[in-house]
Amino acid sequence: MRDQNWLESRLEQIWQLLFPEVEKKNNVIIKFKGRWKNKFGHIKLLKDKSTEICINGLFSNELVPEYIVDLTIAHELIHYGHGFQSPHKQKFRYPHQGSVVKRELMNRGFAHLLRLEKKFIKEDWLILYKSLTR
Ligand SMILES: [Zn+2]
Repeated sequence: MRDQNWLESRLEQIWQLLFPEVEKKNNVIIKFKGRWKNKFGHIKLLKDKSTEICINGLFSNELVPEYIVDLTIAHELIHYGHGFQSPHKQKFRYPHQGSVVKRELMNRGFAHLLRLEKKFIKEDWLILYKSLTR
């Protein structure tokens, strides 16, 4: 079951395994939120200086492949490491400047999942979105 505990341990595992050198400099919260069609996740620095990572609430349904959740977490963690919505030093002017997120995902071994995600978005997401929001 993809509950809060599952999501938190997913974040922890991905962080430890694939982003070991990205220092956790503040309290980082993760949660499912929203029922978005065109957004998979976002990251936000809160007033209390915690960072909040939101993963599309529809992804708590197990019909959505697990790698979509993993990729979304990894994507937001890259923003965190780049200093967007986090205490890290900001490394770029814009969060997606020159496909930095995509390139970093490739460098960290997500190339295969990126291909699967592309296919998922093209072929499955809209139908799944409609059935999950009916
Ligand atoms: Zn992004």
